[in-house]
Amino acid sequence: MSKTVLVINAGSSSIKYQLTDPVDGTAVASGIVERIGEDMGIVTHKYNGESHTTELVIADHGVGLRKVLELFEQYGPDLEEAGIVAVGHRVVQGGSVFPGPTVITDEVVEQIRGLIPLAPLHNPGHVRGIEVARELFMQVPHVAIFDTSFFQTLPAEAYTYALPKEITQKFAIRRYGFHGTSHQFVSREVANVLGLPNEEVSQIVLHVGSGASVSAVQNGRAVETSMGLTPLEGLVMGTRTGDIDPAVIFHLYRTEGLSIDEIDTMFNKQSGLKGMAGQNDFRELLRLIDEGSADAKLALDVFVHRLVKYIGSYMAVLGGLPNAITFTAGVGENNALVRQMVADRLAGFGIALDPALNEVRSGEPRIISTPDSTVKILVVPTNEELEIARQTVAKIAE
Ligand code: ADP
Repeated sequence: MSKTVLVINAGSSSIKYQLTDPVDGTAVASGIVERIGEDMGIVTHKYNGESHTTELVIADHGVGLRKVLELFEQYGPDLEEAGIVAVGHRVVQGGSVFPGPTVITDEVVEQIRGLIPLAPLHNPGHVRGIEVARELFMQVPHVAIFDTSFFQTLPAEAYTYALPKEITQKFAIRRYGFHGTSHQFVSREVANVLGLPNEEVSQIVLHVGSGASVSAVQNGRAVETSMGLTPLEGLVMGTRTGDIDPAVIFHLYRTEGLSIDEIDTMFNKQSGLKGMAGQNDFRELLRLIDEGSADAKLALDVFVHRLVKYIGSYMAVLGGLPNAITFTAGVGENNALVRQMVADRLAGFGIALDPALNEVRSGEPRIISTPDSTVKILVVPTNEELEIARQTVAKIAE
């Protein structure tokens, strides 16, 4: 272990951390602080194949992160020996302010705070996590890596909503896109697997986890993505609607008298697979289908249909068949059925999966299409922590 980056993803009530070797990609140690501000909190620290769990009241992010330092002292690794060269912070919303990794100063913290109206659920937790981490790790630089940065290359016709211009300008309303760190990492891995320069690959990346998004990446630059002003737009997700006619909001308001907050909660937390079938976890959904649930079957079909619709439209955006279509994240990496259902619907384009390769379970990037498929289909495990660590190191080396 020579140099490491401490990667921090601070949410409103949790802090995930991972001590990462940016060169070989090892997760040296990792953990999560949960239930900050609740009656009882919990910290789980993982090192050397062991997991240590501690319960305590965690009043705020400072208490949580100090406990993490104690656990490093108690169970290892020794943070002095770990050679932390920087702390990399995941930040969901960088607006149009941050087109790339940014060394954190007081001014940058204020700018991230200024973006809270665009990310009320995420940026407040990030700001708290950054403030506390900067106090506890004063001796090293801190770098912010934004989920939105990879999509700052979207052309105006892709990111502009057809709203009155004064409104979009006044309120910074546009499509920002999210999961950018994952799409960037995976698209580069795809180029490696294909043995092509990233600058020459045309591809579609399907990040399908509990949150889900698609991107079209041409020559290393993102040209389209399915999430918008917020992560609500696009694919069907575990608990989110994805695309929906906005008039549903007016209808629910006028006919049911639901408030904006109630509709917000419904669309973000009670919809998607959960809304249609009662389960947001994909494995549970498949279990319900096995038990004969028609609702669960329909939910799966809606989910796959939306994916196929996006793939088709992104092939048009890319101007033809891409070199690759890649599955990543929890469902994309692990679920052969969804991959097969999607590929079957694309058979008319000459796209074909090799059923045996599709069934292989592996943590390695791999091609699962037949040799004569017109488009290569891949599975590439995402690794957002590693991407954050790499980008952090590259930023401080500038
Ligand atoms: P997020 O990071 O957005 O929380 P993940 O990328 O971890 O989400 O994906 C979570 C989803 O992946 C869940 O719906 C889960 O059921 C699904 N998943 C994880 N492992 C498997 C598996 N072996 N088979 C099918 N689905 C899986």
